[in-house]
Amino acid sequence: AVPTAVMVATGQGANYGILIKGGEALQRLEKIDTVVLDKTGTITAGRPEVTDFLLLSNGSDMATNQSTSLAGHHVLRTAAALERASEHPLAEAVVRYAAERGLNLPQAHDFESFPGLGVVGVVDGEIILIGNPALMKKRGVTTEPLKATAERMSKEGKTPLWIAIDGELAAILAVADTIKPSSIEAIRKMHDEGLRVVMLTGDNEHTSHAIARQVKIDEVIAGVLPAGKVEAIRRLQGEHRVVAMVGDGVNDAPALAQADVGLTMASGADIAMDAGDVTLMRSDLNGVAAAVTLSRHTMRVIR
Ligand code: ADP
Ligand code: MG
Repeated sequence: AVPTAVMVATGQGANYGILIKGGEALQRLEKIDTVVLDKTGTITAGRPEVTDFLLLSNGSDMATNQSTSLAGHHVLRTAAALERASEHPLAEAVVRYAAERGLNLPQAHDFESFPGLGVVGVVDGEIILIGNPALMKKRGVTTEPLKATAERMSKEGKTPLWIAIDGELAAILAVADTIKPSSIEAIRKMHDEGLRVVMLTGDNEHTSHAIARQVKIDEVIAGVLPAGKVEAIRRLQGEHRVVAMVGDGVNDAPALAQADVGLTMASGADIAMDAGDVTLMRSDLNGVAAAVTLSRHTMRVIR
C-alpha cells in the first residue's frame, strides 16, 4: 500500500503543479518545520525597476532624479554599458532604464562579476564599479556621502546600487521589485501549517526587512553571499530545524541541495531545477504549504 499511496500523492501534487521527485522527498516533506525563502524572484516578481537615480556632485547628493541631466546621462550610459554584460535581474533593470531614455551603450571591457556584491569593468577608458557597499569597500571607495540617501531608499524596500567611476563615488540608483500578490497568502498558509518562515537573501538588511514586514516573514537573514546561503541552512539544521529551501537562482543550487527538501520555482534556471526535490510549476509560493499538507496527509494514510 505504501507505493500506491505515494503514487497517488505525487499524482495529486502534479495536478496542482507540484512535481515531487520520488517517495523519499515526499516523506521528508512531512517533517519540515522551517521554510527558507529566497527573496528575488521567489517572494518578489524578480523583475525589478529603477525608481531613483541620484548623482553625487560637489560631495553631496542632489535630491532629485538626474536621469535627464548631461552629467546624469554620462553616468547612466556608462553604468548600463557595464550591466549589459551581467545577467543579474538588477542589471537588466539598469539596462532597461537607460534604453528607455534613448541612451546608446558603448562596449564594456574587462567585465568581472562578484556574486552577491556587484560588477566591475572598463567603459570608455573609465573603471566602473556597480554594486553594494561591500563591493565599494573592497575597492576602497567611500560610501559616506550617499549613506543617508541609501538608507532612505532601503527603508522603502528598494535596493540601492552604488556607482563609482575611477575610484570615486559617482551616483546611486534605487531598484525596486514588486511582491508577487500570491506571496502574502502563501506565507499565511505556511503559518497555518505551523511552519516558521525565514527570508534568506544577498540583499541588504533594511530592504529585506521592509519586504519581510509586508509578507509577514518570521526571520530575515540578509546580506548573505551565495556561498553563505549553504552555511545559513546548516546553522538552522544545527538548531534541530528541518528545513525546506525555496529558490530560483543559479546561486541557490548549493543551498537547495543542503536543505532537507529543496523546492525550485519553474521559472528559475535549469541548474536550480535539477538541484531540487520538488519543482513548483506555477512560480508562486502556494505550492509550498500544499506540498507539506499533501505529504502529511499521505504519511498519515500510510501509517
Ligand atoms: P538575492 O539573494 O536577492 O538573489 P544576490 O545574491 O543575487 O541577491 O545579490 C546580492 C546583492 O549583490 C544585490 O542586492 C546587489 O547589491 C549586489 N549585486 C549583485 N549583482 C549585481 C549587479 N549585476 N549589479 C549591481 N549589484 C549587484
Ligand atoms: Mg536570487
